[in-house]
Amino acid sequence: MHILVTGGAGYIGSHTCIELLGRGHRVTVLDNLCNSSTVSLDRVQQICGQRPAFVEADLRDRPALESLFAEAAKTGGFDAVIHFAALKAVGESVAQPLRYYENNISGSICLFEVMEKHGCRRLIFSSSATVYGLPEKLPISESESIKPTNPYGHTKSMMEQVLLDTAAAHAWNVTLLRYFNPVGAHPSGLIGEDPEFPNNLMPFVAQVAAGRRPKVTIFGDDWPTPDGTGVRDYLHVCDLAAAHVDALEKAAPGAATAIYNVGTGTGYSVKQMIAAFESACGHPVPSVIGPRRDGDVPTVVAEASLIRQRLGWEAKLGLQEMVRDAWNWQRRNPMGFKGALLD
Ligand code: NAD
Ligand code: UDP
Repeated sequence: MHILVTGGAGYIGSHTCIELLGRGHRVTVLDNLCNSSTVSLDRVQQICGQRPAFVEADLRDRPALESLFAEAAKTGGFDAVIHFAALKAVGESVAQPLRYYENNISGSICLFEVMEKHGCRRLIFSSSATVYGLPEKLPISESESIKPTNPYGHTKSMMEQVLLDTAAAHAWNVTLLRYFNPVGAHPSGLIGEDPEFPNNLMPFVAQVAAGRRPKVTIFGDDWPTPDGTGVRDYLHVCDLAAAHVDALEKAAPGAATAIYNVGTGTGYSVKQMIAAFESACGHPVPSVIGPRRDGDVPTVVAEASLIRQRLGWEAKLGLQEMVRDAWNWQRRNPMGFKGALLD
């Protein structure tokens, strides 16, 4: 298949490019590079011997999308789109809601309109466990109510609705993947998560371990969890990448919609994650206990059986591989894609 990967230069997108190319698909990446660089695509080439075609463009640039789809039509068109491109920082979305709604919603709608015009009606969408807000029941199943608590989460739940309505009206084949907490990196250490300032736990821990930041602040140790720190369902990014390609290859043919949690079903606390990282890097990772973060919830763990039953996908990599690969990436790229690659 010829797959358009929006946001394919980013963290999850670049790992998914490797999985797609490895399974023999043809890949075109569209990215405006607002949170990434093309070095990730150079590294994809280093890993798999092929470079995805790349178009630097914004999702909201309709003429650019039109010409991309028109050009692809000359060789059979895109068979499907994997849509990663979005802004994703929760705190920033609270401070700049209009920017988030404009980018994530207007950009997605522009993409979907161009897809419909060109008869490309198959899409895999990056959704998030954040759409569940404070869950009523654990583990969280796909039938949990949708009640996001911040503008970023609202952009995800709104886009889910737009896609379900579009699928119903225009016979699209849509898969919504609700990711839990993707972490880790490709085992080569050539690509990984590269935030300027990390908002999430694991990239923060990795940057402290590499000496880029002095310490991790644990956001509260008085939560109703076994050790008092927040519990999340961490998932290796390579497993997540495989879930996208499974969703593409194994989706029911024709018009259909499917919604899957993508997680492992196992939760680890902040303290457990830091301890695992210390074992992987071989030295202590300094941490202090701080106040709870606004809007945080104690425990988020997936009921992950639906995707296993329907697509045969389940996580193959565990906590050891997650922290090993996160550390290998950080160790080899202490300053991320901007700095030198170490042996
Ligand atoms: P990322 O920032 O590394 O990748 C997103 C990519 O999209 C970036 O390369 C960015 O430059 C690009 N982009 C953003 N807006 C664009 C626009 N208007 N036009 C073109 N390109 C644009 O993020 P990621 O962690 O790889 O996340 C990918 C997707 O998964 C996002 O939709 C995110 O919301 C979702 N998600 C991520 C997580 C996570 O923890 N990383 C969890 C759940 C869901
Ligand atoms: N967390 C923390 N310190 C940090 C970042 C996160 O203690 O610097 C905690 C956070 O409170 C939560 C867990 O780590 O319990 C995972 O947070 P993250 O932001 O990575 O994911 P999310 O909360 O969005 O699931």
